[in-house]
This record gives sequence, structure tokens and C-alpha cells, in this order.
Amino acid sequence: MKKRCMLILLLAMLGACKKSSAPAGSNGSDNQIQLSVSAPEAGYVYVDGAYTGKQAPGTIAVTAGKHIISVALQNSYQYLRKEVNVTGAASVAFVMTDKPAPKVWKALWIGLYETKGITTSGECSTHFSKDELDQGYGFFQWSLQQHFEKYTYNTIHWDVERKDIELPVTLTRSNDNWFTAEPSTISGILPQIQPGTYDCVFVFWRESEAACSFKSGYFGLAWTNPLKENIKTGYVTVKFDAGTSITNKISYYKTNDPGVWVHEWLHTVGENFYQDKGLQLPRKAGDGLVVHAAEMYNYTFPWMDWYRDFMGGRVVNNSGTPRFLGIGPEAFLGCSVREKAINSCRD
Ligand SMILES: [Zn+2]
Repeated sequence: MKKRCMLILLLAMLGACKKSSAPAGSNGSDNQIQLSVSAPEAGYVYVDGAYTGKQAPGTIAVTAGKHIISVALQNSYQYLRKEVNVTGAASVAFVMTDKPAPKVWKALWIGLYETKGITTSGECSTHFSKDELDQGYGFFQWSLQQHFEKYTYNTIHWDVERKDIELPVTLTRSNDNWFTAEPSTISGILPQIQPGTYDCVFVFWRESEAACSFKSGYFGLAWTNPLKENIKTGYVTVKFDAGTSITNKISYYKTNDPGVWVHEWLHTVGENFYQDKGLQLPRKAGDGLVVHAAEMYNYTFPWMDWYRDFMGGRVVNNSGTPRFLGIGPEAFLGCSVREKAINSCRD
């Protein structure tokens, strides 16, 4: 609350300053230069990483000097960028070769064959077969392509390693009866999970089987401040309710509620990581989580447009400046979690 008030106050002051510093008769847009922007297909135009609200083909206004002008293409989900020194009105014509090399993010995907815990009816286990884990992995890879890479306009490419765990993994039971596969448990079994190795670890396990149930009020879980964890790595688990057919369940989710992987991953970068780089993301929802604020910005279930605009930096800011909120393709070209974890990259 305190922070929000300070922000409003600051903006009011800036507004006041601007007004009083402009001498009577001067035009506030004097130092704005018109650029006409064109691209191989329709796209959203960004200046220095911020969405302008304008589309290509179209005209934008910028100040003189060096800028990164870019376009996120609406159909092919590609990102084109140029560094331009603006000295006067000009045309900026993008071609497909203006596409930058994608930033590589590294994921470790882990399927659990056996997950055990102590329920109210005693100790029991759930299991996935090799084939079922393959299907879970396929669901993840599908989401990488359809959501993770697409919504960054392919400025990120995911390099995935898969390592399933055959030994039984013991779940941790919390006071409110949530069973979780903790980062310390998984990194204890797979010591290659070290700061600087992966950007995010994804763990897939079975929620219930016959009389053995680890059901609780979540589908996926994410740890929201990776750089503050011991492993300094994003961490996500998906507790999958496979029912009697994992094939049918995955197909159901793909059709009706496809966002679980990208939703959880966004918690790992959209709660603290990009905010700590100085980006303006949406406000926190009532439960304290930014990724859960979709309804505050008028998005509806299953929230896929929310994830797209959140990642594209195009969520309309209904309370002032900047006009748009979110991460944006330019920011995705910057340092990743694993690079920040070992300080091998600065931004
Ligand atoms: Zn969530």
C-alpha cells in the first residue's frame, strides 16, 4: 500500500513539473520525431523494449538519439529489431533477417516413477510408467512450443534435458495437508541441480492412484524467487491427476485448460526476477501473486491471452503510466536465471 501511494505521488509531481517547465506557447511534442515503421506482416511496435500501443505498418514518435525499435509479428510470432540513431523523420523497414538469435534457456524435466507419502490411511505410493512419463514430457514440450516460445515471440529457445527418477521420491506433507516434492528432495537425488546449470527444473508426478491419494488444492506449484533458493534455479512441480487414462487427461487439458506449465513457469520469473531488473509488471492479486492478477486486468479463463500479453509486455495499465505492463520480447533477450545465479551476465 505504502509503495503504491508513493508511486502515485511521484507521478503527480512529475506531471506538475512538466507543466510548469513548458513555457507558454511551446509545443510539448517539439522534440518528437516521426518514424514510419513497416514489417513483413502486421506487428506490435516497441521502442526500447516498451510497447508503444502502435502497430506496423504505422507511425511512431520518438525523441532524437539511439533507440531500439522492434516489432513483434502477430501471425508468425517472430521478433524483429534494429538499433537506430534517430536524427530526423525516417522510415524503418523491417525484414526477416532483423530477427535476433534467440536467448537459450535451459530446463531440466524430471518425471517421477514412484512418489510416496504418509496419508491419513498410512504410507502409500503413486506410480507412472515409462509410457505415461513420455506422455507428460510430450505435454510439456507441446507447451514450450505453443506458449513459452511463442509468447516470447521466439526470443527464447528452450534447451531441455530430461532425467526421470526411478527410486521412490518421498513427498513432504505440510500442516494444511499439502503433499509437495520439495526442491531439496529432488536436488538431493540429482546433485547436478546447481546454481548456473538450469534456468528452471520441472517435476512431474502422479497425484493419486487407486486408494492412494495426495490430492490437495493445487495442480502445479512454483517457487517464486529462484535466486533466493539454495539451488538458485526456477522450480516447478506439476501434480498430475491422470485418472484412468493419462492420454485422455492430457488431451482434455490441451483443449480446455492448457496453461499449467507456462503459468507455473511465469511464477518463477514474473513475481520477482524481472521486477528486480526494473521492469514494470502488473500489480499483485489479493493473494500476493502477480501471475494471479488476470481478472484485475479483465482477462478470462483459461487465461491464455493473459499469459501472451504478460509475456509480450502488452497488458493495459488501468492505473496510469507506463501505459503497458509485462515483460516483453526485448527483456527475454537479456540475462536468464542461471546466468544471474552465478553473475555471469549483467543487465
Ligand atoms: Zn499460480
